[in-house]
Formats: sequence, structure tokens, C-alpha cells
Amino acid sequence: MTDDLKPWETTRRGMLLLVSSPAGAGKTSLTRTLVADHDSLILSISATTRDPRPGEEEAREYYFRTRDEFEAMIAAGELLEYATVNGNYYGTPREPVETALEAGHDVIFDIDWQGAAQIADKAPDDAVSVFILPPAWGDLERRLRARAQDSEAIMEARLRLGQEEVQHWHLYDYVIVNQNFDRAYADLGHIYRAERIKPQRNTWLPGFVERLLAEASGETSPHDPQGAPPRTTMMLPVQK
Ligand code: 5GP
Repeated sequence: MTDDLKPWETTRRGMLLLVSSPAGAGKTSLTRTLVADHDSLILSISATTRDPRPGEEEAREYYFRTRDEFEAMIAAGELLEYATVNGNYYGTPREPVETALEAGHDVIFDIDWQGAAQIADKAPDDAVSVFILPPAWGDLERRLRARAQDSEAIMEARLRLGQEEVQHWHLYDYVIVNQNFDRAYADLGHIYRAERIKPQRNTWLPGFVERLLAEASGETSPHDPQGAPPRTTMMLPVQK
């Protein structure tokens, strides 16, 4: 799917789409598929101090950093938020998010409840949060085992952490139970597209309506949406 921006959508206010879930609920597949299907949506790549799992690549899944490097990023104010999960630091680099928003894109985050709460607090008008639940707890265990990426001890820790994550479901704007990928994905897509057409994100609307009404009252020549000015860029919602 393409961006599908109309010529009159000259300015937009990007959204911050925060997605959380316990490990194994399908969040990564859902978020990555949404990004693949929408040119307008950029995935925020987090930094972490945890070791890469088999198959993970630097700058694709995460920026893998040492504790010293991560703490230097915190000290330099380079992170929009960070949290400790399972004894490791995880955080969102600020600069790529700001660049994406300035270019008129939306940004999606695969982060835990602590990070989602921090971003929602900093940018309440721009954050949209979605929590993904599994249909049954046994389902999570099965999915984590099927991945066979972690030792038994790490898997147990991830399941325990998952319980803590689920306890925060009520902080989110939307909750999806992922029993079936296609249905859960359709719900996530509906949320994204409905949020995109909220008036406050479409800052081109007042000018557009003004031109429509000028045409209606005969003040101007026929309204020509194709003749709208070229797209310019956006906004910077995230407070420091
Ligand atoms: P994993 O180690 O399984 O990739 O991720 C563990 C948890 O850390 C997941 O719940 C994931 O959503 C969360 N996480 C990943 N990146 C970030 C981040 O940048 N900030 C925060 N707060 N949590 C993150």
C-alpha cells in the first residue's frame, strides 16, 4: 500500500503509534507488517544493552550497545524514553523520530508499558497506544517455545515479565486480542487509518474548508483540489 496522500493534504501532524504486549503475543509481526504496508509509517528502532538473538541484525532489530554506551546516550539526552526490562536497558533514540515527524511521517514503536507511558506523557496529543493480548496464556508459552530463541530460564523470566506487562493494559487507547493474525492485523490497520483522519492531525483542513466555502459563496473561481500548493512539512510534537 502506498502513502496515498491527496494533493490537498499539504501539511500533516504525525502520530506516535505505541504498541505493547507481553513477549510472544505477535506484536513484532503486527507492527512490522503495518510498516511494510504503509509508506507513511516509520518503525522506531530501539537501542538495547541485551545481546542479539540468533538472526538479529544491528540497526534492523535494535542498535545493540554496551551499558557504558547506553548510559552515555542517556547523559547526552539522546533518548526520548528508556526503561529497564529484564535487567537490560531499552530506549528510543530521539533523532530518527524527530526526523520522521518533520518529514510528515507517522512513527510506530514496539516498546514496553513504561516507555509507552513516557512517550504518551511527553506528547499526549500525538500518541496513540495499542495493547496486544494473547487469547490464552498457554498460547504465549507455545509461541515462545516454538521460537526456541531463549534458554528455559530466560523464557520463564519473559513470561513473568509478560504478566507485569499485561497488568497495564488499561493504560492504552485500544486493546486487540490476537487470536488470529489476519483479524488482529485488520484491527490494527483500522486503528491506524482512523487515527490518521482525525482533524487535529490534518492541519491542511482549515485552509481546505476555507477555499471550499469561498468557492461556495462565489468569491473565487471553482475550487480545484489538484491545484493545491505542494506538500510542505510538519510539526515537532515531542517536548524535550
Ligand atoms: P525483547 O528483548 O524481547 O526484544 O524486548 C523486551 C521488551 O522490551 C519488549 O516488551 C519490548 O517491547 C520492549 N522494548 C523494546 N524496545 C524498547 C524501547 O525502546 N523502550 C522501551 N521502554 N521498551 C522497549
